[in-house]
Amino acid sequence: MNSKPMIYEYRVSAPRSDFYNITPEVREAIAKSEVQEGIAVVYCPHTTAGITINENADPDVVRDLLLGLDKAFPDRAEFRHEEGNSTAHLKASAVGSSATVIVSGGKPVLGTWQGIYFCEFDPPRERTFFVKVMG
Ligand code: ZN
Repeated sequence: MNSKPMIYEYRVSAPRSDFYNITPEVREAIAKSEVQEGIAVVYCPHTTAGITINENADPDVVRDLLLGLDKAFPDRAEFRHEEGNSTAHLKASAVGSSATVIVSGGKPVLGTWQGIYFCEFDPPRERTFFVKVMG
């Protein structure tokens, strides 16, 4: 029985709409948990930001994802939400609030080109995310 809390909280300073690579933090949380075989859930507790796994090799992929999300979810005059950030809420729901990764050998199982990203859609914000590791 592992007595460690196995839930880890991190902060992200997000000055602009972007995908912030949080793979190092997820690796760190898994290492701290000392879980060798299990799963890790990376969770974002915000309504205008999300978590995704995508390419970390060519930075143009993130650029194109941001461009594609802007095209798919443009701001609309018909939106009623008073805060005026419905497009950010739409992008957050499209991307999702969490990602699950398999843990094996004390490390996240990721493809060569994969990274884990915190996705900011309503900057500037100081954000939080959690990593829960289960053995
Ligand atoms: Zn809002």
